Amino acid sequence: MPLSNADKKRLEEKLRQIDQDTSMSLGYPCNFNYNYQELFPFLDYSLNNIGDPYVSPSYKINSLEFEREVLQFFAGLTRAPKDNWWGYVTNGSTEGNLYGLYLARELYPEGIVYFSQHTHYSVSKNLHFLNMRHIMIRSQDNGEIDYDDLRETIKIRRDCPPIIFANIGTTMTEAKDDLSRIREIMEDLAMENWYIHSDAALCGAYAAFLEPRPAWDFADGADSLSISGHKFIGSPIPSGIVLAKRRNVERIAHSVAYIGSMDTTISGSRNGFTPLMLWHAVRTLGREGLKQRLAHSLVIARYAVEAFNKAGIPAWRNPNAITVVLPEPSREVRDKWQLASTNGFSHIMCMPHLTESVVDDLVSDITQTEDRQVCES
Ligand SMILES: *Cc1c(COP(=O)(O)O)cnc(C)c1O
Repeated sequence: MPLSNADKKRLEEKLRQIDQDTSMSLGYPCNFNYNYQELFPFLDYSLNNIGDPYVSPSYKINSLEFEREVLQFFAGLTRAPKDNWWGYVTNGSTEGNLYGLYLARELYPEGIVYFSQHTHYSVSKNLHFLNMRHIMIRSQDNGEIDYDDLRETIKIRRDCPPIIFANIGTTMTEAKDDLSRIREIMEDLAMENWYIHSDAALCGAYAAFLEPRPAWDFADGADSLSISGHKFIGSPIPSGIVLAKRRNVERIAHSVAYIGSMDTTISGSRNGFTPLMLWHAVRTLGREGLKQRLAHSLVIARYAVEAFNKAGIPAWRNPNAITVVLPEPSREVRDKWQLASTNGFSHIMCMPHLTESVVDDLVSDITQTEDRQVCES
């Protein structure tokens, strides 16, 4: 039975609404600059990347070889240890972060997880799933972890291996925890064992190109690392990449005869389409394309801070961040531009598709509503 005319109308209306909302979305870190039309024919097939991406499963309708190329690309970006890394394409960073913490727990069941106040909300849920001991560390004003608080907190629990959940770009202010300073603390305290997971949901796609380069990847001391695919890279379906040291993954792997693969992933059935999109992005953009997009985002972020400041709005950003933080605008403006807000602050995300004129529109909306409020009061 075909869809009824009324239902078709509903879909058309929904599409129009989404298209309009897309042009007014400034508060979330999703890049809208992509075109995956070449992949649409694959939507007629029941792709499923079930199980481990490095094992050929009995079910052949999959995109595993493309997934492996995507992982190879990100292993390069994150300086993963040669011949000792493993990964898979996830449904997003929440899953990748869960995976990193899971590996850490299997390695150090008596470990304590340390994470800063500004860490993504999903960490609490993940720690609850895993039933791991954890301690929240103070954040500095810019959103970065307070290294002194971290040191003092670990110091009084030196018998438990620390598991550091590091933010490589906090959600609200894009503050990056410095892995070299974290490692210094471990060495100073003469810790023997520790684990570092980098939550690089947004910045993982470009941190390698920043100058100066932040300390964030495997070579800087990460044991596992998670990146979102639908954020800086952009995809119409949420996705992500998790990478980890292979020997840590081997501890949890076990073979499952039914699927003819290893049960190394969190989800059993896995998306076979998102790896194709990420592969398309990697092949069309490559390192050079990502670098250019980063350069554009940084230009827009610098422009936005200046434009806000000129209008008397005390906006700011962390060094080399594409996230611009500003005092929470009126509800009307926040609703119109889909701005997230916490503790009196909002942010705009200078994603690769954002232009200066859209920033100008937001600035004038804020100044106009404020003028109106001044008149009314
Ligand atoms: C967005 C984000 C997440 C969650 O990622 P999803 O892909 O939405 O699951 C985790 N951590 C940080 C820092 C984020 O910005």
